[in-house]
Amino acid sequence: MTSASPAPDDRARAQQIAHELPSLGVHGVALTYVDTAGITRVKAVPVSALGSAVRWGVGMSPVFDLFLADDSIVGTDKQGGPDGDLRLYPDLDQLTVLAAQPGWAWAPVDRLTQEGVPHVNCSRSLLRRVVDEAAGRGLSIRAAVEIEFVLDRGDGPSFEPACSGPAYGMTRLVEQSEFCAEVLAAMAAQGVDVDQVHPEYAPGQFEISVGATDPVAAADRSVLVRQTLRALARKYGLRISFSPSVLAGGVGNGGHVHLSLWRGGANLHGTGDRRYGMTPDAEAFAAGILEALPALAAVNTPSPASFLRLQPSHWAGVYACWGHETREAALRVVTGTTGVRERASNLEVKCVDLAANPYLVFAGLLSAGLDGVDRGLELPEEVTGDPSRFSASELASRGITPLPTTMDASLAAFTADAKRWGDLLADAIVAVRRGEEARMEGRSPDEVAEAYRWVY
Ligand code: GLU
Ligand code: MG
Repeated sequence: MTSASPAPDDRARAQQIAHELPSLGVHGVALTYVDTAGITRVKAVPVSALGSAVRWGVGMSPVFDLFLADDSIVGTDKQGGPDGDLRLYPDLDQLTVLAAQPGWAWAPVDRLTQEGVPHVNCSRSLLRRVVDEAAGRGLSIRAAVEIEFVLDRGDGPSFEPACSGPAYGMTRLVEQSEFCAEVLAAMAAQGVDVDQVHPEYAPGQFEISVGATDPVAAADRSVLVRQTLRALARKYGLRISFSPSVLAGGVGNGGHVHLSLWRGGANLHGTGDRRYGMTPDAEAFAAGILEALPALAAVNTPSPASFLRLQPSHWAGVYACWGHETREAALRVVTGTTGVRERASNLEVKCVDLAANPYLVFAGLLSAGLDGVDRGLELPEEVTGDPSRFSASELASRGITPLPTTMDASLAAFTADAKRWGDLLADAIVAVRRGEEARMEGRSPDEVAEAYRWVY
């Protein structure tokens, strides 16, 4: 929903849901959105107030657009003061009874002004507009976010991995057997189809990947899955980190994004005659994304901790290049197994992490991809193997650039492309990134990793 005056059937639906929730033991509904710094912020209402929330929204200040990850505020000459109010409107289509938080349901919100139009900095409304633009071209998108996370024993002052078994090792799955099984049960109860859950590479690290859906719902899912994992970790006395870099120098947590472009029921990545089955539109979509990756770094890898993760040879996709099933390229063309390629082929954007606001991530990637389609772009030569083996001059002659790994470089590329976001949102993004950078000034990589370890 995007209107301040929901259709009468939405109001009736809210009343119906509010009537049913208590019999499911639900007392409150958590209404969330993700801010510019990547933090999920919440207002919660009793079930009895859901009807009012659907009709009139729930108040929340726009100042959160200028909040940093430590809750300090960076006002600019345009925004960030104490004035004004916004209304949070829950999306009933996504309302979910939370399996890991007894007594609670959850719904993501759109942020509207008191006059009933989407707030210009509402990332969820922005993403919906981009999805609508795609629909205007007869295109739809299927999307998913992979969630990597690290479990900590939760009983010490410093990081202690909650398992000791090897990467991808069955030992780890045994060590966290109850937790992982309950994750699967909770996702099933919440209607989230899980593709895989498995131990990952870094100490204490696991990953869950979920099925693809439309981009707004995929961003919502990214929030829901993380809060579910967090609640279950707490139940098991564990701490959980989605931070891009839990330990400086190690392999980090990625938030890889999967995207495929569809027209009239056909997956354009698996039904064409270009490389790896791409249609011209799928290739142009990929090329548009590839071209924009440096400018999108301030959105996709927004935190000082993001730069600790973005190391070559760490499977984080530091190089703005593409390859077929290549885990060191920022853009990986995934074709999968013969037999499912027509429907399953997709693009994986590997550089993205979970400090990013997923609505902004999808809005940026999709708008860049659609721009590529409009311009009929073609992909350059593909890369195989690890690009870090190339010298600087070889990288340059192949047209491969490393993604920005400093805030200055990231914001320079972002600013050159800021019109994609509109003045106020670009202003908020720059101010928040500069604010985080200033907070971390003079800190060592270990201190930066520690500062953000339990924040995301
Ligand atoms: N953990 C790696 C990252 O930081 C990714 C590992 C993988 O390819 O799954 O993105
Ligand atoms: Mg992974």
